Amino acid sequence: MSSPTSIPSGWIDGKPHHSTGTDHIVVNPATDEPVGTVKLAGRGDVDAAVASARAAQPSWGRATPAERAGVLLALARALDAESDVLIAEEVAHTGKPVRLATDFDIPGSIDNVEFFAGVARNLDGKASAEYSGDHTSSIRREPVGVVGTITPWNYPLQMAVWKVIPALAAGCAVVLKPAEITPLTTLTMARIATEAGLPDGVLNIVVGTGPEAGAHLAGHPGVDMVTFTGSTAVGRQVMAQAATTGARIQLELGGKAPFVVFDDADLQAAIHGAVAGSIINGGQDCTAATRAIVAPALYNDFVDGVADLMSRVVIGDPTDPATDLGSLISRRHREKVAGMVDRARAAGARVVIGGTVPDGPGAFYPPTLVADVAEDSEIYRDEVFGPVLAVSRFTDDDDAIRRANDTPYGLAASAWTRDVYRAQRASREIHAGCVWINDHIPIISEMPHGGYGASGFGKDMSTYSLDEYLLVKHVMSDIHGVAE
Ligand code: NAD
Repeated sequence: MSSPTSIPSGWIDGKPHHSTGTDHIVVNPATDEPVGTVKLAGRGDVDAAVASARAAQPSWGRATPAERAGVLLALARALDAESDVLIAEEVAHTGKPVRLATDFDIPGSIDNVEFFAGVARNLDGKASAEYSGDHTSSIRREPVGVVGTITPWNYPLQMAVWKVIPALAAGCAVVLKPAEITPLTTLTMARIATEAGLPDGVLNIVVGTGPEAGAHLAGHPGVDMVTFTGSTAVGRQVMAQAATTGARIQLELGGKAPFVVFDDADLQAAIHGAVAGSIINGGQDCTAATRAIVAPALYNDFVDGVADLMSRVVIGDPTDPATDLGSLISRRHREKVAGMVDRARAAGARVVIGGTVPDGPGAFYPPTLVADVAEDSEIYRDEVFGPVLAVSRFTDDDDAIRRANDTPYGLAASAWTRDVYRAQRASREIHAGCVWINDHIPIISEMPHGGYGASGFGKDMSTYSLDEYLLVKHVMSDIHGVAE
């Protein structure tokens, strides 16, 4: 792969940017080996990136939708041509399985770029009749301006694409701050975008820490909108920072997705869905299945089936295409995950499989099933962000829905049933931005992704996402003209 030993601190004005900040070593969490060193961008670098975006935005905003679409299509083709580079980088700085990066992260990102290239050409608004009798009205949709984007480490390229690309389609310019532990693919995307014809300054990257570069970007007076994906705690800080300037804001935050198995469910399908949905990306997925809430009649068979399937998960070298579960993002994060499982065990929950930290290099952690968890326990209530499924039993359908909603989060949920009425009820009554029926995890560019409650507000993906980056202007004209 082309991983540099010296990683730029950013991409500003169509060029690599080198800061004079402190050194940060980007580590491959599966091997503990360094991937490269980056000098962290600070406040001055953020200022330069925002200035570049401000200078570039007006002409990008005035480009025709077809011109912007053309650049996005060229970007999609160029990303596709360099997908091997992107896959290798994504695996190296996250430790995720190469199969996931190859089947999901990179093609999903490219599909999103293609989708928004099409959507970019649908900026028409309403024209309306003479409500007042003397005037006619029309609606213009205009770019918000400069967007500050802050993204997490779990899906570095996809999380960036979900925010950057609709903003570009809308005619905005962007300053993106990726997580400093996973900067490679966003830097590569920016380089590819410039080569594909995106004007200099329309997409800038700053690789810095959250409290320094992130906080400065979120509260920057030159930023018109802040979009953030990350934890709920940091999202609240970002919201407070954005409030100092009054910038528009969109937040995609944490989750604690319920996985409700009714007694008429296809048990084997539910077992497969639970394992796939809880170990995807090492469970470091905001929509991962984390709380299985299971009908009493199926409970024991579900626990046995999940444990059996988890025992067959291939864990190890992320670069091996046979691997299902790579490493977690860092040893520090693994300590957090292991600590939560240890405390659940100490509190009386049953660790059916997994739950032990393996020896050797890399931040590996096995698929883990924790059964008989109490409703007030930490593992049932808080985001683990590891390959850990907590299981509890419900009493009746009312109790199942109550338990599913017994969380401040509301990002995603699934309900497993063959009964159309139960499915309809679950989809109506579960308080979440996405409810899957008889599946868990699939997402598509055409449909919105975003949470309720402590999972944030606003949408990524779909035409709803484009609207986040557009202002709505009412133009009202006197139809009698100047002559009257
Ligand atoms: P995080 O909140 O720690 O960090 C996210 C980003 O915010 C990083 O770039 C970080 O550097 C930056 N940041 C940290 N402190 C900041 C501050 N004070 N001001 C501005 N920026 C700051 O999250 P993480 O650990 O990188 O990612 C995991 C979290 O992301 C989980 O909670 C997960 O649920 C969430 N997530 C949500 C979605 C979604 O779509 N809702 C998607 C992926 C991840």
